[in-house]
Amino acid sequence: MGHNRVAYPPARTTAFIPRRYRASDKSFFIRVPTSDMDDQTTRERILDTLRERPDTPSGLAEAFGVSRGTVLTHVRHLSKSLDDTDEELLVKPPECRECGFDGFDDPVNVPSRCPECKHENVEEPAFVVEAA
Ligand SMILES: [Zn+2]
Repeated sequence: MGHNRVAYPPARTTAFIPRRYRASDKSFFIRVPTSDMDDQTTRERILDTLRERPDTPSGLAEAFGVSRGTVLTHVRHLSKSLDDTDEELLVKPPECRECGFDGFDDPVNVPSRCPECKHENVEEPAFVVEAA
């Protein structure tokens, strides 16, 4: 599967933490990168990935070391941010493997069960970014 071809591995930040320090010595304290900046970077990398190929919440979560919920949040933001551009986010909706139901209210989601037949065997959505 394409999950193994990770073009953009997640960025790792290693903070230097001295083994012994006095709390009164402020020179040991370092500035930690804000999570906002990390979010922005992850979002841009997800965008780049989806320009190249479709992927699922699980595939993106594995590739970028974040939860599926975080992936879905990024994808929703990406969809909005592409509104006024010549690109758009396309979604292959989740689909029940039992009865084929795919009319979920929010396609950018990972449903735990099918509202029609109540089975939990629901295939994840897939996303891709293409020229509008
Ligand atoms: Zn079903």
